[in-house]
Amino acid sequence: MAAQIIDGKKISKQVRAEVQAGVAAFKARHGRAPGLHVVLVGEDAASQVYVRNKEKASLEVGMLGAAHRLPADTSEAKLLEFVSELDARADVDGILVQLPLPKHLESDPVIDRISAAKDVDGLTEANAGKLALGRPGLRPCTPYGCMRLLEAIGCDPKGLRAVVVGRSNLVGKPIAQLLLQRHATVTLAHSRTRALDEIVREADIVVAAVGVAELVKGDWIRPGAVVLDVGINRGADGKLHGDVDYAPAAERAAWITPVPGGVGPMTIAMLLGNTLEAARRREGEVV
Ligand code: NDP
Repeated sequence: MAAQIIDGKKISKQVRAEVQAGVAAFKARHGRAPGLHVVLVGEDAASQVYVRNKEKASLEVGMLGAAHRLPADTSEAKLLEFVSELDARADVDGILVQLPLPKHLESDPVIDRISAAKDVDGLTEANAGKLALGRPGLRPCTPYGCMRLLEAIGCDPKGLRAVVVGRSNLVGKPIAQLLLQRHATVTLAHSRTRALDEIVREADIVVAAVGVAELVKGDWIRPGAVVLDVGINRGADGKLHGDVDYAPAAERAAWITPVPGGVGPMTIAMLLGNTLEAARRREGEVV
């Protein structure tokens, strides 16, 4: 059986179009556009590209998008003050601090300077706690994007066995929690997991969020499974590779995300969705 491809590019375009319509309606109701502010410290080349793309995407859907570029030697005190000032502004609905920060800066205190209502990356203690407790809050963008992909292909996780490989706070853990909320039976695997192949073979839904190219082998995939590959690894061939050995996995899966063009494009789309949601909540609308 050859898997159907989960087209993240197409689905992310649909999400962006929905957000664009939502932004237009928001403007009509409130006379202002939602504001997304991205903070970048330093000159990391990949981060510069990500920040530019986020700013561009927010402007394209009609938001007030702004990128704030601070020098690499910005002190922690200065950065905390900067984020606090942004957070206090009435026209700012969403704040994202681009990670990783330069080595001399710790990310946790900086992220926790963002109030939960404006934390459109869903990474503050407050929003992580809400997610763990199953309460409404802003969700981390990549995990939220994975759930949206499942929805787009009509996959209801209820009662299914899901295996998430990778337990980072950014990706693996929140995906596991979102799947649990949707009533999947979830196994969260990591670098100390024994017999990973046997665990993955049990899964109806496999999410790979590891950062090791082609770690998940094709013959680990249960026939008919749904495979979401979050990994982005630059190979010696200069190309991007996922965490799943794509070609043999696609022989067995029912659905699979390619890399690139699968989970990746969903992240910015969900960030835009979160910013609109944050703006609506701040205006007292129930979302
Ligand atoms: P982290 O490095 O923070 O976490 C990796 C996780 O994988 C850890 O939990 C680690 O386990 C686990 N792991 C490492 N090696 C193995 C192994 N051999 N077997 C099983 N588990 C293992 O990475 P992130 O979660 O931030 O990112 C994961 C991948 O997703 C990366 O390729 C990243 O580039 C990509 N990514 C893609 C995004 C997108 O938009 N598509 C967004 C964010 C990330 P342990 O906890 O035990 O160390």
